[in-house]
Amino acid sequence: MRRRDTFALAFGALAGPRTVITARTLRLHLVNTWTTVMSSSKFRETLQVSVESEGITGLGEGAPIVRYNESAAEGVKLVGTLNGLFANSDPSQYAKILDQVFARVEGAWAAKAAIDIALHDWVGKRLRVPLWKMWGLDKNDAPATTFSIGIDTAEVIRRKVREAAAYPILKIKTGLANDEEVMEAVRAETKKPMRVDANEGWKSVDEAVRKIKWLEKQNVEFIEQPLPAAMLAETGEVRKRVDLPIIADECCLRPDDIPRIAPYFDGINIKVDKAGGLRQAMRMIDLARTYKLKVMAGCMVSSSLAITAAAQLSPLLDFADLDGNLLIKNDPFDGVKVVNGKLILPDRPGVGVLVRK
Ligand code: MG
Repeated sequence: MRRRDTFALAFGALAGPRTVITARTLRLHLVNTWTTVMSSSKFRETLQVSVESEGITGLGEGAPIVRYNESAAEGVKLVGTLNGLFANSDPSQYAKILDQVFARVEGAWAAKAAIDIALHDWVGKRLRVPLWKMWGLDKNDAPATTFSIGIDTAEVIRRKVREAAAYPILKIKTGLANDEEVMEAVRAETKKPMRVDANEGWKSVDEAVRKIKWLEKQNVEFIEQPLPAAMLAETGEVRKRVDLPIIADECCLRPDDIPRIAPYFDGINIKVDKAGGLRQAMRMIDLARTYKLKVMAGCMVSSSLAITAAAQLSPLLDFADLDGNLLIKNDPFDGVKVVNGKLILPDRPGVGVLVRK
């Protein structure tokens, strides 16, 4: 080895790691207390991840899900254990790094998603292209997004529907005992199309069929996860007895779920946080198309960082429900915009968010 190379190696070691990954938690405050079948809350914690190399910083976010024993604080600890793996890595080889992270880490899908997004952001910034362009997509194909109305009293729901006047399609959360009351409150304010998410809230084939038959007369486009995730055969029964498309959500988290659930549903709802990142979401889209399933992408309550990252995939979707950033008061980022309901992707490189001043 020549002397200069030896010096460069020694200097490199002194200069510190080539790539640094860091993480912190971020508390997001909700505009309205958010209630679904699962929970009710005023704030959510997300995991923020940075990958720094060559003077470029890639940013990522994941929303850990309590149901799957995930938390933002655990995510920070997990990222701390990956310092060694990242130190000598080249983030432009993100596929290899993600394979190594996935081989080493069990579960922790939201943390993996935050890491995956930070790597994609870094690569897009390094190549100076937005992710949609890096993937060969046309940003004009991005669909409209729904605006979600959580479970609430009839009076509050009517107010929320009025506040959502700018959104051409609404997503309504149902699944509690007051379903009819919720829908009637919505319909007292608007005739616009709706998508209904039961979040596994109906407990039998008969209950689901009865509710869906009623919803078929209410300008509803489809029903998400009418029965609990484990009730696949029963969902297939429901599907035979109703006309509305049935979309899988809680029973379809990752690529390997798709072959198992495909016979019982018309489509799937992908969440980047549950899938483990954009690469996994892309695999789900490809697999869903193989099984002739419709594809939507949903989201958790998140800042514009995670929502804009998911929106980068949206030209590939039939339906988008990417409004998690519109439900919070303290969004630190500026990213994807919604104009007349349609998602407008930024032209900036990577995920394309700016930190708000
Ligand atoms: Mg859902």
